[in-house]
Amino acid sequence: MNRKQLGQSLNLKIEMVAPGRPNRSGKKINPQYITIHNTSNTSKGADADAHSNLIRNKGYYMWKGEKRYVSWHYTVDDNKVIKHIPIWERAIHAGKGNGQSIAIEVCMNQGINQQAANDRAARLVACLLHDLKLNKSRIVPHKHWTGKNCPILLLPNFASFCSQCESHLDAIDLSSSGSSTDEPQDGDMLLVTAEEMEIIKALDEELLGGAMAEDGPEDEDPDDEHTLIAQSLSELLSEEENSGK
Ligand SMILES: [Zn+2]
Repeated sequence: MNRKQLGQSLNLKIEMVAPGRPNRSGKKINPQYITIHNTSNTSKGADADAHSNLIRNKGYYMWKGEKRYVSWHYTVDDNKVIKHIPIWERAIHAGKGNGQSIAIEVCMNQGINQQAANDRAARLVACLLHDLKLNKSRIVPHKHWTGKNCPILLLPNFASFCSQCESHLDAIDLSSSGSSTDEPQDGDMLLVTAEEMEIIKALDEELLGGAMAEDGPEDEDPDDEHTLIAQSLSELLSEEENSGK
């Protein structure tokens, strides 16, 4: 598949976290890595839509009596990809990785076709690597940044997941006839918009020295963060059920 077809195969939905929400940092990053997470949430219904609801309408979990805001760029399940934040914006998901990487959460809810979800994630990664001109070595597990056991399902076979991403990436190059229609056009550019690419290009020029925003207190995260996020989601869903939504 060429880049355009691969992008279209993702079944992308755009559900951005509203600018100004506390889990939208507004800080710019020049992403050099793609950080892979698993949600660590095996509950029924903890799919991409549920995580989109969580990140847009709540956006935090409780830790030591305080709200800890979280965010990531894309959520993937077995039938769709949802985008939440521009790829040039720092999300809050992986400590030191926040300032350098795009974050993808791969769902693992009860009843999911996990292989389909993993392959959809691999296709998303291939599109991002292609657009940002990065190679397979830039795909990293959450564990790379913080030592956490995440992505819990993909970690034991992480190299094979990376190879899967690479074969999709290679297929883009092979199938590309060099014709401009193989590349995403205006209407297809939602996965990575032309505007996002422009911002990143400008950052590339501005930040050749690599000076990025310093890590802040929001980049420190608790060990069992994904479990706390899962708890936060189940509280949100039961509140919504009680309020008759
Ligand atoms: Zn993680």
